[in-house]
Amino acid sequence: MVIQWFPGHMAKATREVKEKLKLVDIVFELVDARCPLSSHNMYLDEVVKDKKKIIIFNKIDLCDRTETAKWKNYFEKKGYTVVYTDAKNGNNLNKVIDKAKEELAEKIARQVAKGIKPRAIRSMVIGVPNVGKSTFINKLIKKNVANTANKPGVTKKQQWLKLNKDIELLDTPGILMPKFDNQEIGKKLSLIGSIKDDITPLDDVSLYLIELLKQSYLENMNNLYKIDVTADDENVFIMEKIADKRFKKIGGDYDYDYDSTIKLLIQDFRTQKFGLITLDNYNDMINEEVSNEN
Ligand code: GDP
Repeated sequence: MVIQWFPGHMAKATREVKEKLKLVDIVFELVDARCPLSSHNMYLDEVVKDKKKIIIFNKIDLCDRTETAKWKNYFEKKGYTVVYTDAKNGNNLNKVIDKAKEELAEKIARQVAKGIKPRAIRSMVIGVPNVGKSTFINKLIKKNVANTANKPGVTKKQQWLKLNKDIELLDTPGILMPKFDNQEIGKKLSLIGSIKDDITPLDDVSLYLIELLKQSYLENMNNLYKIDVTADDENVFIMEKIADKRFKKIGGDYDYDYDSTIKLLIQDFRTQKFGLITLDNYNDMINEEVSNEN
């Protein structure tokens, strides 16, 4: 079974983002630091066109720093500015503001030279679902704006929130629907919660998780489940081992409790039981990119 998308739904979301984009000078694209390439919108440049962009690797606290640093380097080589953040704990958020000011310094200097008093920089957050957009906005506001107390009875429309005297942020993020033609990317997006579980073949996703763990984080998996599998073992065999350790056999044709094991694997990933891991393996994906281009 393949993960399918609803083009109508996607088109509407993209249209909304495009409308909001007209209003801003700079875009903060949030990606998940555990899969910066898979959660990055490949068509961002097309959508955002000539605006300045900063790619924010959020959830940096959950990733394997060594692997993720390769992706930082990758995006920087492509000309992007990259900032690491942990929005949940409010770490490094002001770095985003500093970088935005740096990015727009030239534009502002040009206006000043022409005698125009520069208006505040306008920014917005975009990204696929569940990468931490709302958390990021809320934390950034709390850090920088005094008295954003909710006023009861006032229906909140789209608002500009002043982060400091030079920069404003749109209070609602732009949601980009993930776009992918590669099923492996779809499975990673499912693991990080960007795609709803009810449209995802979770059996495939969990076997794929085993494959990724087997290749890069075998010890983490062996330690968690107290198993002793090797990278040469088949994924289904590994799933069987986990099922055997964790669940009672259910008898009949369906000896092992695969349903519970599938749920367990996905839940264990989403609750960081495997430790700090990065799903996008740089060498694997870049080799693939090179061979696709040939
Ligand atoms: P959105 O759909 O992009 O707006 O994502 P949310 O802001 O709703 O966040 C999704 C989940 O990720 C929530 O459970 C957040 O608490 C969590 N989250 C957001 N940022 C971080 C982060 O930097 N680190 C960690 N560990 N969790 C985060």
